[in-house]
Amino acid sequence: MTAPCPHVPQDLQSQRKPWPADGCAECIAAGHRDWVHLRFCQSCGQVGCCNDSPGKHATSHAHQSEHPLVRSYEPDENWWYCYVDEIVFQVDDAPAAPSHN
Ligand SMILES: [Zn+2]
Ligand SMILES: [Zn+2]
Ligand SMILES: [Zn+2]
Repeated sequence: MTAPCPHVPQDLQSQRKPWPADGCAECIAAGHRDWVHLRFCQSCGQVGCCNDSPGKHATSHAHQSEHPLVRSYEPDENWWYCYVDEIVFQVDDAPAAPSHN
């Protein structure tokens, strides 16, 4: 595999994370569930809401934690995004994408 950017781990199978929540962790902690779409941090596994959501927690998490990679957490979406390189890409041999229902 040719990595789309330096932040993609070499061994993706070892990067499988437990799925901690079926929604944005920070929205749930704040007592609401008003996200639009969800993103899934590939560094620590935290689920956060997208930039169309009021909280924009996926982006704030990436910046605060310096975790560069997220994956879509949506059914039937298989893209990744790197906040450092600002590129969207797909990883053919990545483990099957998790998604909430
Ligand atoms: Zn990158
Ligand atoms: Zn949120
Ligand atoms: Zn993270």
